[in-house]
Amino acid sequence: MSEIRRINPRRPIVITPQGLRRIVLGQVGAGDLSTPDQGAAPAGKVKPRRLHGEAKSWVMAVAHSDRGRLDSHAHQAVAAAAILAQPGAGVVAVILGDFEEDAAALGADAVVVLPDLDAVGFAPEQEVEAVSSLIRAYDARHVFLPDKPESDGDLGRRLIVEHQEPAATHVVEIDAAHVCCPWSGAALLARAPLPRFILLEAGAVDAGLPFAGWGESADMVEGLKVAGKSGAYRDLGLERSDPSQIPLEEADLIVAGGNGVSSVPTLETLARTLGAAVGASRVAVDDGRFTRDKQIGATGKTVSARGYIAVGISGAVQHLQGIKDCQHVIAVNRDAGAPIVGRADLSVIGDAEEVMQALLTRIAQARKQRELPEAP
Ligand SMILES: Cc1cc2nc3c(=O)[nH]c(=O)nc-3n(C[C@H](O)[C@H](O)[C@H](O)COP(=O)(O)OP(=O)(O)OC[C@H]3O[C@@H](n4cnc5c(N)ncnc54)[C@H](O)[C@@H]3O)c2cc1C
Repeated sequence: MSEIRRINPRRPIVITPQGLRRIVLGQVGAGDLSTPDQGAAPAGKVKPRRLHGEAKSWVMAVAHSDRGRLDSHAHQAVAAAAILAQPGAGVVAVILGDFEEDAAALGADAVVVLPDLDAVGFAPEQEVEAVSSLIRAYDARHVFLPDKPESDGDLGRRLIVEHQEPAATHVVEIDAAHVCCPWSGAALLARAPLPRFILLEAGAVDAGLPFAGWGESADMVEGLKVAGKSGAYRDLGLERSDPSQIPLEEADLIVAGGNGVSSVPTLETLARTLGAAVGASRVAVDDGRFTRDKQIGATGKTVSARGYIAVGISGAVQHLQGIKDCQHVIAVNRDAGAPIVGRADLSVIGDAEEVMQALLTRIAQARKQRELPEAP
């Protein structure tokens, strides 16, 4: 029997008269997981579809995208919907913002994309209106959202108020019939029947599914309102910030230095020239080249930049853990066999200082010839 595996090792414990008890894993979802095909497909093998035939009912997952992609927390919300969908029920993913991923691989059978409602703008009333229309149109039995401090968590709570239906937030354990949430300062877990609205904590569900969805683009639902009324909120737009002042977790572009960087000023100049934030490996922090708040990795920060330039960083597993959500990784390393090269989308094999100087020269040339805009 497959299980919904939790991946948070710091999960709460309960102290019972029998002693200390780790929370048991959730019961398997009621989906078609009991079919003989259920084992995780080996790499390259096409995964079996979970849903056979037309969907008789629907469960929904709702999440904001970031530049066309969902983060791992949002993937988990879609996976939870797919794992817990009853046999014959379809999974519809509602994406606020652009969407360029393979919805089928995430476990969704249908996908509705609302590109005008991305997380960059602030339109809570329009979001509630649009998603509520879809909940009604699909008659979604359960609605899953990632419980984030902003965007999805905010939208989830607004939907709960709008629909006045049973709901659970901060869900850390889930099975086909129940949810569990931390209680009493996370010393205990409160257990409740599976409600209609479920806001999942990160790590409650493993997003690696042994099956796929159909991933079909759903037709726009008739009467779906996206424009909505202008209400109590006014979006004043975004203000550009100094990249060096942005917390690494929020940076869009990071230039990170490791033990292979001999000149920190060159790396900082490159970062400034590109309008990027500066990060570092643990070794480079430990030997005093960068401050502790720059450390990226298992014992540092987890970043999700669109672009990550790793200069003179080997790509140890602890470092890779911190950049797992980065979209495009560029490695500068003199060793073509370094693990970071395996993770990178593009690698420049050469001396860090030489490559950075060459880049600075080329950027200056390109700016002079107006091939590139000035630094932000
Ligand atoms: C419990 C634990 C937690 C950890 N947490 C973290 C963490 O959060 N973050 C983290 O980063 N690490 C962490 N580490 C350490 C991690 O295992 C590595 O030791 C560390 O990431 C290595 O840093 P590095 O790649 O900069 O240095 P090195 O391993 O020394 O690698 C340097 C790289 O630079 C290249 N290089 C050398 N000279 C040049 C040059 N002139 N030009 C171009 N390339 C060059 C080399 O080929 C090599 O690939 C942790 C380790 C443990 C045990």
